[in-house]
Amino acid sequence: MVKIAHQYHLPVLVDAAGELPPKSNLKSIAATGADLIAFSGGKAIRGPQSTGILCGNKDLIASAALQMLDMDDHLELWDPPSDLIDRTKFAGIPRHGIGRGFKVPKEEIIALLVALRLFISGAYDASVLTARSILEKIVQGLQGCPVQCTIRDKGDNESLPLLEIKTTDGETAMRVCRDLRCGNPPIYLGHGAVKEGKLLVNPLHLDQKTAETIVTRIHQNFN
Ligand SMILES: *Cc1c(COP(=O)(O)O)cnc(C)c1O
Repeated sequence: MVKIAHQYHLPVLVDAAGELPPKSNLKSIAATGADLIAFSGGKAIRGPQSTGILCGNKDLIASAALQMLDMDDHLELWDPPSDLIDRTKFAGIPRHGIGRGFKVPKEEIIALLVALRLFISGAYDASVLTARSILEKIVQGLQGCPVQCTIRDKGDNESLPLLEIKTTDGETAMRVCRDLRCGNPPIYLGHGAVKEGKLLVNPLHLDQKTAETIVTRIHQNFN
């Protein structure tokens, strides 16, 4: 995609919000030549929900940074980091950009950096194994339900496994999916393949107790 887009001078912006882990994606997606890559700060990195990381082509990062300005400066005094923004290109000071309304508080930026360090250092690597055992417990718990369970695992010991729960048909999967959402607590299963009768469980931030609730509620749906 990068190759074709660049032939036509189009930048490629990658929504990589959910592409961690593996940690290697922090670098390997940029290495494809993609121009801008966005990662969620609040998912696997475990930073604040409202944060994220935008990385890639310097000019585009500079453009995004310009969208964050407020109006509280004077052209003669405005002194953006020169290695990112070439001030001489501007006839006037850019005014309130669209990013201003999405500003991330300083304390959350610091929290994201702390979380990112922990993520990179492997502090959460063990949770992939825990995730797998939680999914296995769900599979055991669903015995006796008219469903077929498959744990999808890339086997790299870093990517999160996914549990696929196959029901008899799309209609049934849709009914279960809707019912789980409407109950208390609401449970949101992955619905990417619901038409094929499949429901997905992503174990990110799932704990033992929540997993038991999922099992109970799916059983209730078939009784
Ligand atoms: C989670 C997710 C988002 C939203 O990311 P936030 O950091 O929660 O705003 C966007 N795109 C994809 C593919 C996601 O998985």
